[in-house]
This record gives sequence, C-alpha cells and structure tokens, in this order.
Amino acid sequence: MMSDTDSRPVGRQGRANSAHVPYYKRDVADRVLDFDEAVLGYDAESAIAEASRCVQCPEPQCCVLNCPANNNIPEAIWLISQGQFIEAAQVFAATNPLSEICGRVCPNLCQQGCVLTQRCGAAAIGKLEAFVSDVARQAGAFKIEVPAEKTGKRVAVVGSGPAGITVTEDLIKLGHTVDVYEAWPEAGGVLIYGIPSFKLEKHVVQNKIGDLEEAGVTFITNTRIGEDITVDDLISEYDAVFLGTGAGVEATMDIPGNDLQGIYTATDFLVRANVPQPMLPADKQTKPVVGKKVAIIGGGDTAVDCARSSIRLDAEEVTIVYRRTEAEMPGNPVERKIAQEEWVNIEYLQAPVEFIGDEHGHLKAMKVVKMALGEPDRSGRRRPVPMEGSEFIMEVDTAVMAVGYWPDPALGEKTPNLATHKWGLLLADETVGATSREGVFAAGDNVHGPDLVITAVASAHKAAASIQNYLTGAMASWPSPN
Ligand SMILES: Cc1cc2nc3c(=O)[nH]c(=O)nc-3n(C[C@H](O)[C@H](O)[C@H](O)COP(=O)(O)OP(=O)(O)OC[C@H]3O[C@@H](n4cnc5c(N)ncnc54)[C@H](O)[C@@H]3O)c2cc1C
Repeated sequence: MMSDTDSRPVGRQGRANSAHVPYYKRDVADRVLDFDEAVLGYDAESAIAEASRCVQCPEPQCCVLNCPANNNIPEAIWLISQGQFIEAAQVFAATNPLSEICGRVCPNLCQQGCVLTQRCGAAAIGKLEAFVSDVARQAGAFKIEVPAEKTGKRVAVVGSGPAGITVTEDLIKLGHTVDVYEAWPEAGGVLIYGIPSFKLEKHVVQNKIGDLEEAGVTFITNTRIGEDITVDDLISEYDAVFLGTGAGVEATMDIPGNDLQGIYTATDFLVRANVPQPMLPADKQTKPVVGKKVAIIGGGDTAVDCARSSIRLDAEEVTIVYRRTEAEMPGNPVERKIAQEEWVNIEYLQAPVEFIGDEHGHLKAMKVVKMALGEPDRSGRRRPVPMEGSEFIMEVDTAVMAVGYWPDPALGEKTPNLATHKWGLLLADETVGATSREGVFAAGDNVHGPDLVITAVASAHKAAASIQNYLTGAMASWPSPN
C-alpha cells in the first residue's frame, strides 16, 4: 500500500542476494537462568543491513497483503535502510498501536509472502519493527495526540488486551472519552497475563498503557463486568460499549487423574511463573512447584511458553507431548526452534490417557497412547487416531495442560439478548463488530476465537470505525450480527 507520503523507490533491487543478517539472541546458557527477553534483536548497523535487502516490490506487495493490519511495510523498511528509524516506527504505528509488541511476538505473517524467501531468506520484518519501535520509545516519539476539544461522547471498553487497547486508542484520537474496565489487577490482557516476559517484558506493555493514561484514558482494574457492574449498567451510563474480553477460559483434559497435585492449567502456570507478585491477585501469588520431569500437553504457542517457563523454573527434562505431527502444529515455528535450543523435547503423535498418582496424591507418571493420523477434521487438519495396544508409561512429576481456550460464557449468560454461539463466542458482525445489542460492539478473541495479537488489532480497528459511525449518527441502522 502506498500513501502520499511514501518516499521509497519502487522496484529498487536492493541487495536482494545478500544473506539474511541475523539478529542478536542471548546465549542459551545465560537466558534460561531468568525470565528476561531472550531475543535482543538488531542494533542500528545490523538493522540497516537487513532492511537494505528488501527489493521494494511494486504493488501488490505480499507482505502488506499478509499483514492483517495492512502495515505499510515496504515504506517502513525503506526508511530503516536510510537510517530514519523514528519515521519508520511511526509508519508501523500508524496502522498498529501495538507495534512494539507485535515486533516481539508476532509470527510475522508478513514475512511468509516475502519474495526473498526462496533466494536468501525473508527480511526479518518483525525484529526490524521491534528495533525501530524501541528507538522511538526512547526518543519519546509515541505520545498519543488527542484533540483539545472533546466530542462529549463516552465509551466503555471492557477488557484491556490488544482489542481493547486498539479501540481505546482509535477512539481517543477522535476526541471521545474512554474508560477501560479490566478484571485483572493490571491492564494489558494476555500481553501481561499470558505471554511470558522472556518473549515480551512487562515494561513494554506498561509503557503503552502509560501512553493511554497520559492521553486521558481511565483504567478501572480489578473489575469484572457482569458481576457488580453489568453490561446493561454500562449501556445506560455510556454512549457505546465495546467488549474486548478475549478467550480466557482454559480447556482441561477429561481423563482419569486430572485432579492430582502437580497438574496445572497453562494460564495459571504461566501467570504464577512469570508475572511479578504485586501484579497478581492474592490466590495466584505462589510460584508453581516444578519437579525434575515436566510434560506439557498441547502444541501451540501456549505449550511452547509453558515449556520454556518450566526450563527457567529449573526442570531438568521438559517434553511437549503433541497428538499430531509438526506439520499440523499451530503456533510460531521460530519460537518452537528457540525452545528446542533451550533443551525442550517435543514428542509428536502421542497423547496422555491417564495421569497416575503416588500414595500422596501427587502426579508420578502418565499413561500415554501413540497416535496415527486419520482423515481431516473440521479444521482441515488430519485427525489423530489412537493406535491400539500402543500405551506406555512416561514418568513425570509435573504436567501442564495447554490444550485450548474459549471465551467466558458468563458475559453472554448475564447480559439479556447478547447473542453467543459455539464455545461461548460472542455473535458479532466481523466487518463492523456489531453484536445483537444496539450500541454494544465486540472484537478480538471473544469473537473469532483464540488467535493472534495482530488479528485482534485488525478486527478492533474495524469495530472502532463502526463505533465512530454509531456515535456520529453515520450508521443508518443497527446491522444484525451474522
Ligand atoms: C500463553 C499465550 C501466548 C500467546 N502468544 C502469542 C504470541 O506469541 N503471538 C501472538 O500474536 N499471539 C499470542 N497469543 C494470542 C494473543 O495473546 C491473543 O490472541 C490476544 O491477546 C487477544 O487479544 P484480546 O484483546 O482479544 O484478548 P485478551 O488479550 O485475552 O484480553 C482480554 C481482556 O479482557 C479481560 N476480561 C475478560 N472478561 C472480562 C470482564 N467480564 N470484565 C472485565 N474484563 C474482562 C481479561 O481479563 C483480559 O485482560 C498468546 C496467547 C496465550 C494465551
């Protein structure tokens, strides 16, 4: 996508055949000793060298098309190659309020279409984005400009994750007043209470929340909407309500022994392992106790995060047990590779069928069955089928179930006429974010299911644009959610 301000020379051949410039990572032996960020990224010199490889494709560029937020990546990369780091950061930030965060955690869908992939490796767009965002942050260039004159319209945002942050920023820039309600003690959603600090340090998220507070946003934390305050209360107090409540309910495994000591669910494990004590509710302030042999059940980013956390909690042997093969594995392959560098084992085509306890009711082993792949299921991935007689015993003293999430059904149950559908997902028109209640919008994981930071950002931008239409009277009639 080119704008009037684009400065790049389209079709320049760059240094297309030069090798990918690796970014810096901490040594494995050093980084597994703490929860600080493992990837250090680029410095100025290496960032310019990596950015200079971009060939500046003419439109349509695959990187832009692949990015759910349609970041103007070619322009940003061109500016980096010219050493204009702050300007590049502002190009990323124009379409993504979480560029500092996505630069660190995005699986970089943009890079998958890069024409350099076959020749010498895609440009490392995400790590370049993180580098320039950090430069801009240090230079104080991320101040959010809001109109001096307010519109007088007030919006309640429920949930302070990527979707809530995006809607909030978009609306305050238009002069509206936004209050954000959050159930956890701190704002940030999964960015704080999920993604571990070795991928994304908490201060990066807190800086963003600080920008919003400075621009006049009020965060009301420790407040779960649907309990003392209902969605109906918000509808009567505000001009519009946005629900960015994510998909925070954890799936468990319905197999014998799942209540033994030593078995955790993923978020409980990650939050207690990673989040500093003052940011935690009273019932989550103890560290998880990890034995020598840890099994993580599941295969996505969450499973990998639990495995890397276990290594940092001094486990001697950490194994991800996944029921399909690597080809079907969800999540970011780069993060998986980093985990394997940190001595995490992955066992494919296996699933536990029973947790076995010792005489004290503590986990001591799992009965595991081997799998073969059958016909594809509804997700298109081949279904794992247990192989008869293949059971074996795996000794473990800690297990973490990282087997999926869905939205909290309570919000739908407690709000009259707020329609939900499978897995408790809120029914909302994905192009405008309109729910079945007039004036109530929704976007992010609670609408499309557990996904990525950047997809929550992209859908929340659409909802914010619709809220603006609603507040200004430009929405002719309330769309029915599909
Ligand atoms: C462990 C883990 C690791 C991940 N790693 C990555 C990664 O590396 N890269 C990536 O792109 N994505 C990753 N994801 C996915 C990504 O974090 C989510 O897709 C994204 O955060 C969704 O944003 P959201 O705003 O929709 O929801 P959330 O981030 O879940 O935010 C929702 C917020 O709403 C609050 N809330 C819920 N109900 C209420 C209520 N009734 N009242 C008040 N507040 C409420 C919640 O407490 C939460 O803070 C990961 C997810 C997990 C769980």
